Amino acid sequence: MTKKTLLSGVKPTGRPHIGNYFGAMRQFVELLNSGDYSCYFFIADYHALNFIQNAEEMRRNTLDLAIDYLAIGLDPKKAVLFKQSDISAHTELCWIFDTLVTVPYLMRAHAFKDAEAKGKEVNVGTFNYPVLMAADILLYDTDVVPVGQDQKQHVEYARDIAQKFNNAFGGRTSEGCTFKLPEPKILESVATVPGIDGRKMSKSYGNTIPLFASREEIEKAVMSIVTDSSGELPANVYNIHKLFRSEEELKPLYEANKGKYANLKKALIEDIDAFIKPLREHRAELAKNEKKVHEVLAAGAERANAIASKKLEVVKKTIGVK
Ligand code: AMP
Repeated sequence: MTKKTLLSGVKPTGRPHIGNYFGAMRQFVELLNSGDYSCYFFIADYHALNFIQNAEEMRRNTLDLAIDYLAIGLDPKKAVLFKQSDISAHTELCWIFDTLVTVPYLMRAHAFKDAEAKGKEVNVGTFNYPVLMAADILLYDTDVVPVGQDQKQHVEYARDIAQKFNNAFGGRTSEGCTFKLPEPKILESVATVPGIDGRKMSKSYGNTIPLFASREEIEKAVMSIVTDSSGELPANVYNIHKLFRSEEELKPLYEANKGKYANLKKALIEDIDAFIKPLREHRAELAKNEKKVHEVLAAGAERANAIASKKLEVVKKTIGVK
């Protein structure tokens, strides 16, 4: 039986945080190790270009994210790990999709609406983000895309765009339609991990706890969690704590320390540090050998390119440019 295909990516826009990890990256590792999927994990550097216009920062972040992927347990022998910009088929397919997608349709995307609502002058890359993401996903005949809740709409866009293409061009190949319709895979319990201020944890809100944080960084982040005493328990502390300990374990601790926020925060620091320490140490080891990391990405690019360029050839024949 052929395995289902799984693909997901992360933008190299800075250090990943525990929201990225619990919402998406932990699933990457679990699903890879289940052996049920052919897995592709990429570094979405062309998406990150919407936020980073500094070559040195882009290079550093990209390499760092590759190290992060390895450190959480994405084994390059089992999964294809690659950089989006190494596979030119992504941007080429994006253009082909651009000719099918309408402006009003893209104006409904959350990311665009949020940027507009903030009065930002939106660049074309941000506006077009869902189309490039559709190309990322559809090039590999992806069945499932593990993501956090904030990316659900983008996977829906990818499904719509696949359908649009299949309808417009008949989309028939000997194997069926040109594009498969992908499904998002979202873990409900961690679909939106809250940050230290209770809003969604996000680099752009500055409310994160970095995934590979040092003990000092963990202490600083936890001590600045905004405590809200209006409820039974300090929700912002508790909601982060339950990522690291079961609710059965937490209940007696929070009962015994009602109103004693400092004690609860201390317990949270210990739990986060106990979880992050081995990851941090493993990452530090991997970071010593950057050459190896570059080799992993080069080998991944070769494997991804073999699949993506073959798919693009099919698309080119289907639209009549080949
Ligand atoms: P990004 O940094 O936007 O590339 O996000 C990488 C992955 O992390 C995506 O699948 C996001 O949906 C997921 N993610 C980002 N922030 C959160 C959060 N606060 N809670 C759950 N998942 C998240």
